[in-house]
Amino acid sequence: MFETLSDRLTSVFSSLRSKGRLSEADIDATCREIRIALLEADVALPVVKTFVAQVKERARGAEVSQALNPAQQVVKIVNDELIEVLGGETRRLRYAKNPPTVIMLAGLQGAGKTTLAGKLARWLRDQNHVPLLVAADLQRPNAVQQLAVMAERAGVAVYAPEPGNGVGDPIAVARQSIDHARRQQHDIVIIDTAGRLGIDQELMKQAADIRDAVSPDEVLFVVDAMIGQDAVSTAQAFMEGVGFDGVVLTKLDGDARGGAALSVRHITGKPIMFASTGEKLEDFDAFHPDRMASRILD
Ligand code: GDP
Repeated sequence: MFETLSDRLTSVFSSLRSKGRLSEADIDATCREIRIALLEADVALPVVKTFVAQVKERARGAEVSQALNPAQQVVKIVNDELIEVLGGETRRLRYAKNPPTVIMLAGLQGAGKTTLAGKLARWLRDQNHVPLLVAADLQRPNAVQQLAVMAERAGVAVYAPEPGNGVGDPIAVARQSIDHARRQQHDIVIIDTAGRLGIDQELMKQAADIRDAVSPDEVLFVVDAMIGQDAVSTAQAFMEGVGFDGVVLTKLDGDARGGAALSVRHITGKPIMFASTGEKLEDFDAFHPDRMASRILD
């Protein structure tokens, strides 16, 4: 994860190690290197600019310190900025006052939504919740079946359309699932919606209609981290078409660069809430900006 960026930043810092104090020229050179490292990591340009400007300002203002040498000071500044750009604090799920809490997943096909639905359900089950997975992706052949398999692996119940009961109508399925959850004492409903390979109006409208039908407590935008800063344009389209409260990054295990992770929060203003790091159910956790920053700088 983020190996390319880690390696680059490590070499920037090691070139500072021999310095007793940093001159203006050292700071400029370091910031240029950091800029290149971020651009190579496919971080969106506005994010790179803000990041580098912040580092420069803080490096110039850094006091001569007994505790930290100049290289360590720069590492600390970059670490703080990474935490900031990744969102600062971990944003936790908001639970509804009157259960069930409704969580809706939106994103492109192949982003990892269905897998994520299973992971999130299992994660919540481990915290003594009783989630219900809802198959409102009626577009993709096998999506309902795939979600049922996920539910079984996660040890949670699934709600899927039955013949004659809203078949083909994801909005009806989503709506009915809330009543079903109440009757069956599920305190959380996770709705898996259809994705397509690209952004299209029909997809957005369907997701917006489901959102209007069930008034979710959280709409989570699920995005494949491996697409780099393309995640930003996809996120912007979903922001306009559906709106969302938080981001889930998937396939971080295959992302050597980190462009999506470092761009999406700054550009959308929405927090990264969860991260998916593999195909197994347990490869999943809440997203912690500070831990991610330390991993990058490790
Ligand atoms: P959906 O179309 O958005 O529902 O996507 P799926 O859940 O079907 O996932 C698409 C593919 O990505 C599947 O082969 C998953 O096994 C894989 N996948 C999902 N999440 C991850 C992840 O975090 N890491 C890796 N390596 N693969 C993942």
